[in-house]
Amino acid sequence: MNHEQAIRIRERLLARLPAARDVLRGSLLDRTIRHRSGCPKCHRGEGHPVSVLAVGYPGGRVRQISLRKNQVAGVRRSLANYRKLKSAIEQICESFRRVVLILDGDDGGRKATARIAAQLAGKCSVGLVAVPNGSQPDQLNRAELAALLAGNFGQEEATR
Ligand SMILES: [Zn+2]
Repeated sequence: MNHEQAIRIRERLLARLPAARDVLRGSLLDRTIRHRSGCPKCHRGEGHPVSVLAVGYPGGRVRQISLRKNQVAGVRRSLANYRKLKSAIEQICESFRRVVLILDGDDGGRKATARIAAQLAGKCSVGLVAVPNGSQPDQLNRAELAALLAGNFGQEEATR
């Protein structure tokens, strides 16, 4: 792969990435809640349908979060974004040996960086760039970017 091909692949993959902060991992389940007593609806055997977001953690622990009706569409979208992000990340790893993460210098950016780094771990070499608080990478000029990136290349062998 030459340099121009690499840039084209990168642009194509980046265009498909959802906003990293609008991403949620887990499964959406349909459950029925039934009250033991005092509820006519449940007494008739109908129960109350609820949507539950189930999120698995290492060690087999699963956290279940009941969703309000007005949250379901957004959660569904964020779960779809997670799958998109995951497949894009896998393709990035197939095409590039080293990936440098440089996201917004705020809480959302740092959380997204941690999440993406965890996905990339073991698949390709990952570099992390700390963007100054309150800055966004696309607002930095060339010199500022170069300074941040210094030291993040040429270490493939050490980190793989
Ligand atoms: Zn009930």
